[in-house]
Amino acid sequence: MKDIFKHFAHLAETGKLLASEPLAPYSSFKIGGPADVFAIPDTQKDLIELLIYALKHNIPRFILGKATNLLIGDRGIRGLVISMEGFRKITRDENFVSAFAGVSLKELCDFACAEGLSGLEFACGIPGSVGGAVFMNAGAYEGEIRDLLYCSKCIIPDLEHLESSNPILHLKKEEHLFSYRHSALQDRGLIQLSSVFQLIPKAPALIRQRMVELDAMRNDKQPMDMPSAGSVFKRPEGHFTGKLVDDCGLRGFQIGDAAISDKHCGFIVNKGNASAKDVLDLIKYVQDTVYNRFGVKLETEIRIVGEM
Ligand SMILES: Cc1cc2nc3c(=O)[nH]c(=O)nc-3n(C[C@H](O)[C@H](O)[C@H](O)COP(=O)(O)OP(=O)(O)OC[C@H]3O[C@@H](n4cnc5c(N)ncnc54)[C@H](O)[C@@H]3O)c2cc1C
Repeated sequence: MKDIFKHFAHLAETGKLLASEPLAPYSSFKIGGPADVFAIPDTQKDLIELLIYALKHNIPRFILGKATNLLIGDRGIRGLVISMEGFRKITRDENFVSAFAGVSLKELCDFACAEGLSGLEFACGIPGSVGGAVFMNAGAYEGEIRDLLYCSKCIIPDLEHLESSNPILHLKKEEHLFSYRHSALQDRGLIQLSSVFQLIPKAPALIRQRMVELDAMRNDKQPMDMPSAGSVFKRPEGHFTGKLVDDCGLRGFQIGDAAISDKHCGFIVNKGNASAKDVLDLIKYVQDTVYNRFGVKLETEIRIVGEM
């Protein structure tokens, strides 16, 4: 594993390859132990070579967006964690906007607004990256990524494709097989490099007005000032998670420093020094309580990764 620093000396020398990097500062939950090796490539060539290196040396690897939908274990993530933060280009071509994986949804929405292109307003307050949003089919306020997505460029992370002359897969909209908080990228282990969104011309002032309204609604209803990973559970068919949790009397209920938010019972917040174990114990407690009271199974929307 140490050889990786020699092999990618140009990344190590520029601070883009780090050993034992703590992940809590990267995570919106402010929870998580270290990555054995943490890479922040900013070229397709380096990304592909890192993936090839990991495969050839049997090193497990994990792709990180902005870590806003993750519970990272207290002992961190073994192997190589590749942050997509380095891929940050946004461009416009007529009514199409193309954005690379590491662009934040906020940057993407601001760009579209300035260009007078509407459709992404719903996403302006979702704190993730374009890569994470496509992977998760992120959505809010009646909108979802699948409504606007036109196509994506993805990497197929197996040696046969990575070592071929063209390792990029062009995925058309319908090939993403989007459903609620799900895309084919999850099933196929694809790495999203960039996506194109098809938008509609509109006056920037009207787009901005809608974004401001949605931000205000979010700030009013959600604990945006506390570390969290957003809604912990997927919306169960025919129910609202927050109401189920509230009706079980769990508003504010706490294990260690992990607490059900007073503001929105679908969120777990870190009140200071919550561990991943505190959060996991609280998730299990909520699932059991809601199931015993209402017979509803709550499935996690956040992704639980690494060693607890
Ligand atoms: C306060 C708050 C509010 C939120 N509100 C919403 C909301 O309204 N709607 C909503 O849908 N979500 C919401 N979220 C959750 C989260 O922001 C979204 O799920 C977001 O899409 C995750 O993006 P990310 O970049 O943070 O991904 P990460 O959390 O880093 O990763 C999530 C998953 O995506 C994978 N991934 C990331 N980038 C790539 C890539 N380029 N290629 C392949 N796989 C990749 C990761 O491996 C991981 O499995 C909220 C979170 C917070 C903290």
